[in-house]
Amino acid sequence: MNDKKKNTGPSMKMPPGIMSYLVVAVIVTLLINTVMSVLSNGGTLKEIKYNEFLAMLKNNEITSVEIQADRIIITPKEEEAPANSIPSPTEDPFTTLFEQTQGATAERAAKTTKYYTGYIYDADLLKELNSRNVEYSTPVSNRNPLLDFFISWVLPIMVLYGLSMVLLNSLSKKMGGGKGGFMSFGQSNAKVYVEKKTGITFDDVAGQEEAKESLMEIVDFLHNPDKYTDIGAKQPKGALLVGPPGTGKTLLAKAVAGEANVAFFSLSGSDFVEMFVGVGASRVRDLFKQANQMAPCIVFIDEIDAIGKSRDGQMGGNDEREQTLNQLLSEMDGFDSSKGVVILAATNRPEILDRALLRPGRFDRRIIVERPDLKGREEILKVHVKKVKMSPEVDLKKIALATSGAAGADLANIVNEAALTAVRMHRIEVTQEDMMEAVEVIVAGKEKKDRIMTEKEKRIVAFHEVGHALATARQKNTQPVQKITIVPRTMGSLGYVIQMPEEEHFLMTKEEMLDQITVCMAGRAAEETVFSLQTTGAANDIEQATKMARNMVSLYGMSDRFGMMGLSSIENQYLEGRHISLVSQITEADVDKAVGEIISACYQKAKDILAKDNEALTEIAEFLIGKETITGEEFMEILAKHPAT
Ligand code: ADP
Ligand code: MG
Ligand code: ZN
Repeated sequence: MNDKKKNTGPSMKMPPGIMSYLVVAVIVTLLINTVMSVLSNGGTLKEIKYNEFLAMLKNNEITSVEIQADRIIITPKEEEAPANSIPSPTEDPFTTLFEQTQGATAERAAKTTKYYTGYIYDADLLKELNSRNVEYSTPVSNRNPLLDFFISWVLPIMVLYGLSMVLLNSLSKKMGGGKGGFMSFGQSNAKVYVEKKTGITFDDVAGQEEAKESLMEIVDFLHNPDKYTDIGAKQPKGALLVGPPGTGKTLLAKAVAGEANVAFFSLSGSDFVEMFVGVGASRVRDLFKQANQMAPCIVFIDEIDAIGKSRDGQMGGNDEREQTLNQLLSEMDGFDSSKGVVILAATNRPEILDRALLRPGRFDRRIIVERPDLKGREEILKVHVKKVKMSPEVDLKKIALATSGAAGADLANIVNEAALTAVRMHRIEVTQEDMMEAVEVIVAGKEKKDRIMTEKEKRIVAFHEVGHALATARQKNTQPVQKITIVPRTMGSLGYVIQMPEEEHFLMTKEEMLDQITVCMAGRAAEETVFSLQTTGAANDIEQATKMARNMVSLYGMSDRFGMMGLSSIENQYLEGRHISLVSQITEADVDKAVGEIISACYQKAKDILAKDNEALTEIAEFLIGKETITGEEFMEILAKHPAT
């Protein structure tokens, strides 16, 4: 999704690293050149005053002078060397070696201290030198001064600059700082993504008509802000997209930018929160600064719950997150929405957001992005099948019917999975079969053909599944059986029954729920009636049935014991949807009892159904063992031979 995003530095003009690397390189080169010049002068130069030099000259203490551009180097006569400079026998081995090879003269010369003094224009100096028999010279450079400058300055700076770039970059990457994270952490470089054009429009988002409608106004505002400001209407500064994962929140935000044809800044909430206190806050500041420069634009903060978590109700708190949140709040207050900056944020946990974020003038608009309904799913499938070659016989409505509860991301995944299957089967188009198989892959995992089950296990699984199917067919408030299979799948199932609704319901009656629980119980009931066994295969059925029964009692007021009393509330409704109990522990025990009663009543009903239909159960199960997978029609055909009693 992010492949088109570009990194931009914090200031857009010049990355901050470059300046600092350059300064380092220049300083190091300066140091090297100083050391070099000191070394080349013998390292033992001592400064004296010009009149001291003249005095030495008058006293005949000088052997030779070298007149340089800015100084005069003076070599005094040898007797000046102090007597104690003669090396002692305990001198270190290097000096000793030096002595032996170079001889005494060279040794003494090396020990002589030279002097230097600043050059002063002195017309009489040469005369004086001549008369005193002092050798004098001036250094001759036969090198090109330009080349000289290049070698001693430009080249080292360049090399050092390159080296430090490489070194520091790899260092900062190791520290997890990303680009430029070492010299300049605290700035939002590398983390702010700006897309000039998202290339996504509302046509790419299907089945979210209400959300699109709400967002249309924002698009219109970005197109012609004057229309709103003229009349004195203030645009909302921000809108919060709320919904379960994969329903297209990120996609919608991009589509708004695409429709309005403005730049799109996107940042994930977790990008703000770093180890160092203050980094997040400065990222927020940077982000808004950049956005203001690029206005009109969209700033999109994905997963805003990472920073927007409510500030109270936790021990100690989190300084960094609070600072970041405060910065965000004050930036949202500070900027002028008439400039055309609109902030969108997305979350699937709206209930934990800080109240301050949601007050008018901040994220005061809430746009719900729900899981798509039947029509929505069909439309989303249509959007995604545009990109793949589909056989004309493919019936998307059927796929949509079979995928109740799926989000947009699941549907996109199903289409892609189907295309992959078609390739694997060497087909040139995707068929309906590929699509249905893809639905099963998403729900239950891939087929595990190589799993060897014993004959006995296979029989148990077959009777278990046909038990479910029979309970479905023999009750009124259920959905028709579409397929029964005993081919194991990678996500743990050994077999399953697919039920296909004829239409989508938004309400469920108490009878439907009870029938559904009975269907779940019928797997174990078959194991018991046929084999007098209990197997682990019923675990998933039990989980589902218990959840439904608990919801009946505590959420839907469908139990005789409690009636309409609300016993729990749902937390995280867009994620896993955990129950939070609202009642005392004593009542809680009664709730459990009520749940248990529903389940055992349904289990008894399932056993009764199977006891009456033992013949049908056996015949269908034997047929299934032979074929491994049977269709709903085959199932109904056999069942028709055994009329219900
Ligand atoms: P969210 O941000 O809500 O978790 P995304 O916007 O990231 O979900 O959606 C992930 C992918 O799922 C999208 O890139 C798109 O391919 C697909 N998708 C989700 N919802 C829709 C939709 N309503 N219409 C078309 N495609 C969708
Ligand atoms: Mg998202
Ligand atoms: Zn089962």
